Amino acid sequence: MAKIRFSALEQVEKRQPLAVEAPSKKYSDYFGINVFSKEAMRAYLSADSFKAVMAAIEKGEKISPETADAVAGAMKNWAVERGATHYTHWFQPLTGATAEKHDAFFEWGSEGRVIEKFKGSALVQQEPDASSFPSGGIRNTFEARGYTAWDPTSPAFLMEVGGGKTLCIPTVFVAYTGEALDYKTPLLKALDRVDKAATAVCQLFDKDITSVKASLGIEQEFFLVDKALYHARPDLLMAERSLFGHSPAKGQQLEDHYFGSIPPRVQCFMQDFEIEAIKLGIPVHTRHNEVAPGQFECAPIYEDANLAIDHNQLLMDVMERVAERHSLKVLFHEKPFAGINGSGKHNNWSLITNTGKNLLAPTTKAKENLLFLAFLVNTVKAVYENADLLRASIASAANDFRLGANEAPPAIMSVFLGQQLSAVLDALESNATINIDKGDNMYIKLGIDKIPPILMDNTDRNRTSPFAFTGNKFEFRAVGSSANCASANIVLNTIVADQLNKFHAEVEAKSTGKDTKKEVVIVEILRDYIKSSKAIRFEGNGYSEEWKQEAAKRGLSNIPNTPRALDAYLSEKTQKVFTDNHIYNHVELEARHEIMLHNYMLKVQIESRSMETIVLSQIIPCVLTYQQKLIDNARGLKELGLNTEAEAIIDMIRVISNHIKQIKDNTYSMVEARKEANALEDAHDKAIAYCDKVKPYFETIRYHVDKLEILVDDELWALPKYRELLFLK
Ligand code: ADP
Ligand code: MG
Repeated sequence: MAKIRFSALEQVEKRQPLAVEAPSKKYSDYFGINVFSKEAMRAYLSADSFKAVMAAIEKGEKISPETADAVAGAMKNWAVERGATHYTHWFQPLTGATAEKHDAFFEWGSEGRVIEKFKGSALVQQEPDASSFPSGGIRNTFEARGYTAWDPTSPAFLMEVGGGKTLCIPTVFVAYTGEALDYKTPLLKALDRVDKAATAVCQLFDKDITSVKASLGIEQEFFLVDKALYHARPDLLMAERSLFGHSPAKGQQLEDHYFGSIPPRVQCFMQDFEIEAIKLGIPVHTRHNEVAPGQFECAPIYEDANLAIDHNQLLMDVMERVAERHSLKVLFHEKPFAGINGSGKHNNWSLITNTGKNLLAPTTKAKENLLFLAFLVNTVKAVYENADLLRASIASAANDFRLGANEAPPAIMSVFLGQQLSAVLDALESNATINIDKGDNMYIKLGIDKIPPILMDNTDRNRTSPFAFTGNKFEFRAVGSSANCASANIVLNTIVADQLNKFHAEVEAKSTGKDTKKEVVIVEILRDYIKSSKAIRFEGNGYSEEWKQEAAKRGLSNIPNTPRALDAYLSEKTQKVFTDNHIYNHVELEARHEIMLHNYMLKVQIESRSMETIVLSQIIPCVLTYQQKLIDNARGLKELGLNTEAEAIIDMIRVISNHIKQIKDNTYSMVEARKEANALEDAHDKAIAYCDKVKPYFETIRYHVDKLEILVDDELWALPKYRELLFLK
């Protein structure tokens, strides 16, 4: 009998929900208690230091060494009072995970005594050994010098693990030569650029608008499996997805899981991680079952994009840690199970002004709606002009399995606006005369006849679109569930900033004449944009075969795999967008491109190696055991003179033997292909070889293994089956 599988199943049988108690019934009592928030700073800092820090946070002013010392002291006092012993700079290297290195809060005092201390210089800057983080050849490992520097716009927080507490200080991570080695540095730049560009456009309409912040609400989808079963699946352990597994008789076809009642064990887990998240000031708000069995979602209330991304990274970390207590494993992989839905991380994105106005929300005031239309149309235009780059920003080995598969947006970038907005843009495009109506009502009114009203509670939804307008924000749905959202947001905010700058320049250039009304100029330019970016707008079913053909006719790209999608990072157009807006220089782009290719190659390599090991050491041995039983059986039947009956068994032996042969042959060929790929020097060639020559074996090998799964005695099968993994109680 397959020992690990059955002992795991026994453990699962005995599991009980682990009830947790919140520190208080009211969220507001403990929201952010583990955050060195503005209130905490006010309480622990002198009035002058507090003012200086606020200036740094709100206006990006530099912090003097004296202020840094004062803040470090205050942070330390606050943290030590709450039981912290260590601090760490917390940063987001290009591995996609977060990184930390803890130091204790003590130093030698006078006469060899130990004192608790945390200096300003240690708050502001640190030097982790950067040699072991991906740098894409920016530095060679001999001069592995990079530094982390405090990001005062994201507050420090206390991480509680196993009774210990660590003060975590969000930082950027940069090489000594100045190149960014992380996600946060370019993200902060992109957010600054979109702020400046959007503010300039707003000023055409409203002089009170002096800053604009990108807002982001990140819906996080994930799967949960029991820990014991997870450990009995080396593929989940190594590759984070199941490389084998026959579809269970019941999958998601009954559609009974989505929004169904949450299983008690899962509900306890959710409550537990939500408590931790609330303490960390992460505004988790929504929880529900997702479409696939074993799949769930959690979504916070939106925040400033930088904070939302830090919080999402932190949330994933907290979820993984809390899951341990519940004997669960969280799978953030984009496609952990074949044949059912994958997971995404929907990025709900908008732009919000210092006056509290959501620039992507249509309003009741006709004049304000021109501002809304300006931002809407410019965003569509930005996506149209940079669709390949946007596609590249969400590319990963794991997301390749999801895009275009069950219930996932396709790899073709398109924008969904909904029937009503589309009609508005169509009318705006085709109508020759425009006069601005100043009336106050529920409609977008540009003096064009027969424009359908945009209802304020616009519920238009298209689940098949990778980039959909959803009433007051765009939802970028193609982002993968395990991704650091910074990648998508660096690109999105940069291309929108770039487009808004161009728009602003055009408006200025064309409204020089005294008698030209600015509004008319704006409408004329928007009309041009609507015309030129029309191909990217699609309202139909993005999952359909017809869309692929239609998109090809429209000249839209459909780049199905990562190594090719990543080429967009080095196109002339991309280089220009990034250098014009001072996000990346040439060296940084090359380095990032190389890191992403390398990362892709490693992921496919790990899958291929895992597949080889599992097939040879687990699948084939148990199949042979079963086959031997059949051979003994057939022999026995023959001894009894039951030759016809023996033939039936011999047929089964033949079928099984053929599957074994196919598995063995294909595995050996895959290993050969891997060796050839490994011999290639160039990162791009290597990634392409893994994609085109190694990866195709996965499906063939899997096909035969999955067939065997339903032929071989259940008692002998070593890997927990889909039906066991997917239906948590
Ligand atoms: P869905 O139907 O897609 O679940 P919700 O209305 O529940 O949509 O919102 C999903 C996410 O969008 C939440 O995180 C929410 O806070 C976020 N969101 C709502 N408004 C905005 C906005 N103006 N900017 C950014 N995110 C927003
Ligand atoms: Mg959504």
